[in-house]
Amino acid sequence: MDLRFSESEEAFRAELKAWLASVLPTLGPKPSHFDWRARRAYDTTWQRLLFDAGYAGIDWPTEGGGRGASPVEQLVYLEELERAHAPYVGVNFVGLLHAGPTIVAEGTAEQKARFLPAILRGDDVWCQGFSEPDAGSDLAGLRTRALRDGEEYVVSGSKVWTSHAEVADYCELLVRTGGEDSRHKGITWLVMPMGLPGIEIRPLKTIVGTTEFAELFLDDVRVPVANRVGEENDGWRVTMVTLSFERGTAFVGELLQTIELLREFRSLARRTGAWDEAATRGRIGHFGAELDALWALTKRNVSQAARTGVPGIGGSVFKLAFSELRQRIAELGMELVGRACLSWDELSALDGAGILGNADIVDTWVNSFSRTIAAGTSQIQRNIVAERILGLPK
Ligand SMILES: Cc1cc2nc3c(=O)[nH]c(=O)nc-3n(C[C@H](O)[C@H](O)[C@H](O)COP(=O)(O)OP(=O)(O)OC[C@H]3O[C@@H](n4cnc5c(N)ncnc54)[C@H](O)[C@@H]3O)c2cc1C
Repeated sequence: MDLRFSESEEAFRAELKAWLASVLPTLGPKPSHFDWRARRAYDTTWQRLLFDAGYAGIDWPTEGGGRGASPVEQLVYLEELERAHAPYVGVNFVGLLHAGPTIVAEGTAEQKARFLPAILRGDDVWCQGFSEPDAGSDLAGLRTRALRDGEEYVVSGSKVWTSHAEVADYCELLVRTGGEDSRHKGITWLVMPMGLPGIEIRPLKTIVGTTEFAELFLDDVRVPVANRVGEENDGWRVTMVTLSFERGTAFVGELLQTIELLREFRSLARRTGAWDEAATRGRIGHFGAELDALWALTKRNVSQAARTGVPGIGGSVFKLAFSELRQRIAELGMELVGRACLSWDELSALDGAGILGNADIVDTWVNSFSRTIAAGTSQIQRNIVAERILGLPK
C-alpha cells in the first residue's frame, strides 16, 4: 500500500482547488430552506457549473457522462469541495447519489442515455418514492399497486416522506406487481415522471418548519413499461442496489462536512472559554477520533464500491455509527452556544461561530434527529449488521 498521493492525484487536487477558488465567489448566497423553488435553482445551477467544468458524476463511468475518477480522486474531490465550503448535492441528492448510480448499475443502454446526462447537467431533479404509511422499515410490505395495461403500468396508492417531491421531475418508485402477499418477490422499480396526470403532492412540515418532504397520492398514473429498471417483480434486488448506495457512498460528503463542523466547534469552544474544561477537550478529541475511524471505513467502502460497481453491506455499519455520532456532535454545538440555543431569534445576538451562524448550529441539532430514521432506522441497521454481517440468528 502506498499512502502518498501520486503526481497525477496532486495535479487533480491543484486544478480543482484553482477552479473552486475562481468559481465560488460568483455563486450568490444560498436561498433559505423555506423556499425550495429557489433552492432547486441554486443547486441545479451549481450542478451545471460542475458539469461544464468536467466535475459532475466524479465516480460515474465515462459512458454515463461521468468523469470515471479513481476512488482516491473521488475522495480528493469531496475533501476539496468541503474545505472550500462549496455547495454539496442539495435537492439533487436522490438523482446523483441513489437513482443515478442504480441506473448506472442496472439500467438499459437506452435508460442510461435518457436519464443520466440530464441528472449530471442539473436539468432533472429526482425524488424517492419508497416509503408508505404502513411500509417504512418493513419496505417489503409496500402496497402501491401497478397493473400492466399494454405498454404501460397503471399505478395507484400512496407514498410518504418523499423528500423534495415538490421540486422533482422524476421519482424512483417502488410498486407491487406481484400478488398481495408476494412481499419482496412482487416488487418492481419504476421511473415515474412527476408531471403525469393522477399525481397529487401534499407537502409535510418537518420539525425545522420547512416542507422538505411530502405525501404522494397516485391515482391511475400511467407509467410506460420502458421506464422499468430491472425485470418485473425483480425490484427488490434493484432496491438493494439503491439502498447500498444510499447507506454506503452517499454519506461521504456529509462525513467530510461533519469533520469541518467539529473544527468549527473547536474554535467556538476556544471563543466561549469551554475549551478550558478538560471534559470538553476530551469530548472533542474523542469525536475527532471517531470521525477519523469513519473516514478510514469510508475509504474502504469507496474502494470496494469502485472494485465491484456497488457498495457492500458494510454501508450499514457506517450509516449506523455516523448518524448516531452526528447527533452527539450536534448536541455539543448546542451546549457551546449555551442558553441562546433555546430560541432561533436570540441567536443573532451572539458572536457567530466562524462560518456557521448560531442558527445553523440549532438547525444542525434539530435536523440530526432525522439521521437515525432516514435511509433506514438505527434498529434496522443493527438487525442488518447482526443477521447479514455477523450471521446471528433473527
Ligand atoms: C428526513 C427524512 C427523509 C426521508 N426521505 C425519504 C424519501 O425521500 N423517500 C422515502 O421513500 N422515504 C423517506 N424517508 C422515510 C424513511 O425511509 C422511513 O422513515 C424509515 O424507513 C422508517 O420507516 P417509518 O417511518 O415507517 O417507521 P417504522 O418502520 O414504523 O418504525 C417505527 C419504529 O419501529 C422500529 N422498528 C420497526 N421495525 C423494526 C424491527 N424489525 N426491529 C426493530 N425495530 C423496528 C423502527 O426502528 C422505529 O424506531 C425519510 C425519512 C426522513 C426522516
